[in-house]
Amino acid sequence: MPPTDFHEEKMHDFYYKQGELYCDKVRVSKILKKTGTPAYIYSHKTFTDHLAKLQRAFRSAKPLLCYSVKANSNLAVLRALVKKGAGLDIVSGGELFRARKVKCQGKNIVYAGVGKTDEEIRAAIKVRILLFNVESVPELEQIDAIARKMRKKVNVSLRINPNVDPHTHDYITTGKAENKFGIDFEKAREVFQDVKRFTHAQVSGIHVHIGSQIETGDPFVEAFQKILEFIDELEESGIKIKFLNLGGGLGAVYSDENPQTAEEFARKILPLFKKRKFRLIFEPGRFIAANSGILATRVIYVKETDMKKFVIVDAGMNDFIRPAFYNAFHQIWPVVKNEKAQAWVYDVVGPICESGDFFAKNRELLEMHSGDPLAIMTAGAYGFAMASNYNSRPRACEVMVKGSTFKVVRKRETYQDLIRGERA
Ligand code: PLP
Repeated sequence: MPPTDFHEEKMHDFYYKQGELYCDKVRVSKILKKTGTPAYIYSHKTFTDHLAKLQRAFRSAKPLLCYSVKANSNLAVLRALVKKGAGLDIVSGGELFRARKVKCQGKNIVYAGVGKTDEEIRAAIKVRILLFNVESVPELEQIDAIARKMRKKVNVSLRINPNVDPHTHDYITTGKAENKFGIDFEKAREVFQDVKRFTHAQVSGIHVHIGSQIETGDPFVEAFQKILEFIDELEESGIKIKFLNLGGGLGAVYSDENPQTAEEFARKILPLFKKRKFRLIFEPGRFIAANSGILATRVIYVKETDMKKFVIVDAGMNDFIRPAFYNAFHQIWPVVKNEKAQAWVYDVVGPICESGDFFAKNRELLEMHSGDPLAIMTAGAYGFAMASNYNSRPRACEVMVKGSTFKVVRKRETYQDLIRGERA
């Protein structure tokens, strides 16, 4: 049970020294003294190391690596990655706003999502993004019409739904026929055959993203082979493909799974693209962010019933919804470890009025007491980004650790923040 680094490859920079949990070179308990709990704590090093792993693995293909902003959109995270050469994958006007705040150039931004509004499309054209990843024919028509009005040419990739099962959670499966994402091959063929009718949207790319937390290369290979066959067919009929966006989806390590490393992924898929001329794009989110952050929380009460021991903590599903939403498993580590403590089986739950408000069920953990700080591990992706104010709970603060220093990169919300814009 004692938590160690559980993957053959170094996945993060959270570790114990003399019983104290560290993030990089800073004691987590020192951070919490300043910030209180709940607090998201990020490792700058883990973020940039994961980006570097992908950059190294794919250096021969020189792809554009667009970090998927939705995974963790804190400006400090975006700035760290953009500074190291990442582009950004966005899905909303708000994410475009964030991308511009960290000075990501338009030529390094790609824009996906099934429901882009006119206002969002205009804003993206204005900053000359590299590509719209288009998910339907009505959207393509609308982008073309708006670009024409603005007298601008824009690049478009058609997002293809290749109908491949990525063998992951249903809610993060995006490339099966029943999913709302992308266009099937038949429809895409029709679009390409009639491409001249789009005067300002230049349909010059293909996009595919089949899901998230995909642990082996096989579903990717299956999807990419289908896509390449389709591209061959297009090229035979004289249509040129300039961009091939292969999406995100690489897995992180939450427990004892052993997802492919960046190197293994590259070895598996790069041979498919040898001798191909198009520019490759990737949109990794979870792979970069998940292992880079923890959610630190504190025990409020330990409550015993005839059936269970509950550890009630001060973070709730509003702060971190993954266990409630996806039944996701997250390791829970003590911030200060007492090796001599006895282990008990607990449910770790939040204070929210929902039975789904839990972080762990029937989990063996070292004995807990009121006031003990805990760390919910692998919370850097789809953590704060999915937080809400449910139960009128101010959102947690976010902290970035860099080497031996740390900085609050988003203040804890106040009650005033909760009612901003409201009128009685
Ligand atoms: N690209 C697209 C189009 C997505 O929908 C997503 C996630 O939903 C991603 C990239 C990022 O996926 P991941 O975090 O699994 O890498």
